[in-house]
Amino acid sequence: MISAAVVTASVRVTLLSDIHYDPQYGTTKAFSQCVTSNSSVWGVAGCDTSPQLIQRALDDVSRQGTSFIFYGGDWQRHDYHNSGLAPAALFTDLSERFRNVTVDGSHGTVAFSASLGNNDVVPDYYFEWESAASVQELTARVQAMETAGLLTATEAGVMEKCGYYTYEKATLHVIVLHTLLWAFRLRPYLSDAVADPCSQFAFLKSELQKVRDSGKRAVILGHVPPGLDTYKVLKGGFKTPPDDLYWKPEYLSAYDAIIYAYKDVVALQLFGHTHRFALQVFPANGVLSIILPAISPIFSNNPSYLLADFREKDWFLQDVRIRYSTRDGVFHAGTSAKAALKISADLASLPQLRSAVKKLATDDEAWKNYLQMYCGGETRPEVFPGEACDAHCRYVVVCSMLESNYTSIQNCVADFFADSSEAPCRTSPGVVATILIFSVMVLAVAVLLVRMARSGQTTLACHNFTKVGWWRSLLSIRPTSSIVVETELHVPA
Ligand SMILES: [Zn+2]
Repeated sequence: MISAAVVTASVRVTLLSDIHYDPQYGTTKAFSQCVTSNSSVWGVAGCDTSPQLIQRALDDVSRQGTSFIFYGGDWQRHDYHNSGLAPAALFTDLSERFRNVTVDGSHGTVAFSASLGNNDVVPDYYFEWESAASVQELTARVQAMETAGLLTATEAGVMEKCGYYTYEKATLHVIVLHTLLWAFRLRPYLSDAVADPCSQFAFLKSELQKVRDSGKRAVILGHVPPGLDTYKVLKGGFKTPPDDLYWKPEYLSAYDAIIYAYKDVVALQLFGHTHRFALQVFPANGVLSIILPAISPIFSNNPSYLLADFREKDWFLQDVRIRYSTRDGVFHAGTSAKAALKISADLASLPQLRSAVKKLATDDEAWKNYLQMYCGGETRPEVFPGEACDAHCRYVVVCSMLESNYTSIQNCVADFFADSSEAPCRTSPGVVATILIFSVMVLAVAVLLVRMARSGQTTLACHNFTKVGWWRSLLSIRPTSSIVVETELHVPA
């Protein structure tokens, strides 16, 4: 029999991300093609989340009776800027829905913290902390959260400056970051001379020092993750760091240095944005990051979220399990990270996690299990650009979890190919050009031979090539045997 002490020794947390709520779903003002009442409200690839789907998801969260809800950002539908909705309209609506979710009450009746995503600024990716317009937009959203009771006045006061704040509980600090500030895609483009955008590194460091001094633990919560934009690389191959990485490398180094120095107090890092479940086990960082799956079905994934179990006394992560809907509005329990990756202990040891992630490149069963979580509860080949994941794709996905440095990721992929019997099925541009030139030559010779046959030529001699008359003769057509056939057809039987 399990004692009550063991049962209460863990704390369960809901981890949600990327709702991309579209209140105008099913109307002419909806995002993308879901503009009629015929659009299924339970999830259509290419569309964002309907009011019905978000309510189903949050009702399912309520039934789980978790202690906290952590939300990874991208509250708003895509292209909110052109939706005609007021700045705080969506945050007001969604904040009320979040506030009404039932938690177990062990840490208050509202136990919620959330980051902002690149779609929560307007236009997407646009945030300028020194501009009145950006600050006004941010304030409207933060105040909507505060009015709904999701933020205290102190938390709102901090968040209004740059979008980051700390949610403090008895044994845990959730340090909420606005990681868009470190992204290549931030607009207006930030000069490389800015070493600490909006003083977020100074904030992170001082908060982690407070956590260490108070003997607590920290969870980091942000939206845009560090590392590789896997989907982009799977679609178009490796290009350049600004094309393929989410964060600028100098900000990644600054971030990693801070987390590594405080890795004894950081329990876990959580990010969203990719809409694909992943574990990041980067050596230079030293602490596990989880990329949360999405509720929005826009990128062909199932609507899904995670339940995380932590050891209460020190917030060591034990396991995360996915809950998902197969686009029918019903949520199911899916596999857990421990089961998928065949890990026997909890998820707190980075070296053990690294070796488990590495095995995904060679262990077909573990890879199959992991793909279920990656795609949102069940394997869905359509989440990959080519609607399938070949060896190259598999190695890119695995290496994007093992390494965050651009060169290291590519070396990792090459190493997996070197260790396997699979040849990388990537053809170099030189080979493609040679094949193309050869094909054109073969075609030209074929056309020449056909013209020779039709004009009655029988000899292919080099000296002919210099004679204009010979080339002209190719354009003439010798009377063919079809006339003979016609005559023959008239021969009386
Ligand atoms: Zn998103």
